[in-house]
Amino acid sequence: THGRTLVVVGHGSHLNADSARAVRAHAHHLRESGQFQEVLEAYWKEEPSLRQVLQTARYREVTVLPAFISEGYFTEQVIPRELGLSHQGRVPQGGITGEVNGKTVHYTRPYGIHPAMTDILLARAREVCPGWEAQKTALVVLGHGTRRNARSREAIENAAKTLAATGLFAKAVALYLDESPYATAWPEFTGELDVILVPFFASEGWHTQETIPEELGLHGAVSQLDERRVCYAHPVGTHPDVKGVLLELVHEAGGTVSGDVDEVHALAWNALLNAASAGLTVGELQIEPLPHGKFALRNVVDAGEDDLDTVPLDTVPLDTVPLDTVPLDELNAVTGRDDVGKHRPIRTQKGLPRGWRAEVSGVDLRHALHAIYPTVTEEAHAFEQGNLPITPWPDTAARQSGMYRRVRHATPEQLQSAQEMTCSGCLRSPLWAGETLSGTFLSGRSCGLPCAEACTLLVSEVAHLLEESP
Ligand code: SF4
Repeated sequence: THGRTLVVVGHGSHLNADSARAVRAHAHHLRESGQFQEVLEAYWKEEPSLRQVLQTARYREVTVLPAFISEGYFTEQVIPRELGLSHQGRVPQGGITGEVNGKTVHYTRPYGIHPAMTDILLARAREVCPGWEAQKTALVVLGHGTRRNARSREAIENAAKTLAATGLFAKAVALYLDESPYATAWPEFTGELDVILVPFFASEGWHTQETIPEELGLHGAVSQLDERRVCYAHPVGTHPDVKGVLLELVHEAGGTVSGDVDEVHALAWNALLNAASAGLTVGELQIEPLPHGKFALRNVVDAGEDDLDTVPLDTVPLDTVPLDTVPLDELNAVTGRDDVGKHRPIRTQKGLPRGWRAEVSGVDLRHALHAIYPTVTEEAHAFEQGNLPITPWPDTAARQSGMYRRVRHATPEQLQSAQEMTCSGCLRSPLWAGETLSGTFLSGRSCGLPCAEACTLLVSEVAHLLEESP
């Protein structure tokens, strides 16, 4: 009955399902550590969303860990604002603590600025070209860089300086993709030395796999350029030792306290369990009660079909492997794309894939639903109780910053068009835009899924329309 929830935060993407992969892996490893009663994920550009994640936390003691490689706009402004924390600006060592709707929230610094990242950088450099003579080698730390926030490069500068001071390499410098000193100028900084390039990035992706190799003319792990060897390492953020850094940041933030179960949350899940025990359809998902307190989950269209294509879930006895571990990740990944493999950043967008089946215990039903349709249970229950707070569009628009600041100037027609583009393909009903709902799936209306606030997909569509308008 006591515990705490850890929320691992990533950026996510409206377009690319792989963008969240590194954060998912961190969350998976932290679950496996067994140090937390609950580990959730939350993203800026996909679900589970930052705006909703705290209400999905089971415990009243929550630690939020931004799995970001640098400090800056997201860790200092967007994440605390979206969570409902009053803090804005740099997060001090030890993190900050605030109260949000009856929950105590400890918010930590991002992992990229932790001094231990220098050791991880070194490990990445060493593993990629073992046996190279360090004294004839230059180490180049590659960062993204951003002109908007000088602090975002502080961690990279510090790591490069620390390594230069150790004298382990003949040289150690930091170069950037988007600002001076540019990564493309690496020959000027490295003389005739062999070079190891280590991307100070959170994950493998467009930059590490395409931009950097293309701009620098790299071919695989070791390239022969200008009559010397240039070695290209994996990004620091995916190194297994990052898990230790994440745990340390959680400890720093004072997150060892165990909290009570959130009563409102418990009531919502009791209501779900009761409804599921009689058989329940949630949007496109069918939950069928089985003997011994178990439940079968599948796409409602697949109900009654025995000859389905199988995915790993079908072959894993989920009652013996808790969903909190590998199967949970499978469930999220399997239902995170539609039948043609397209990313579903908002999980209630129509198109839950077919061809899979999961069998879960009553306890794991919560984890499974959190992976398939995050937040809908808490929101539906609040709606049924008459307690679902609705955020009207002007409030959502006024909160936006950066590239989305302009959405506050959208005309009603532009908002309407954006809604037609995004909400028409979504199972939720946009109550924030004045739509009404007579009840939810908890009271038998399978497509009764309330939407209390415009999601980031809608916001970005409005921004896109504004950009296109004359
Ligand atoms: Fe769905 Fe529209 Fe709500 Fe986004 S704003 S979750 S698309 S109903």
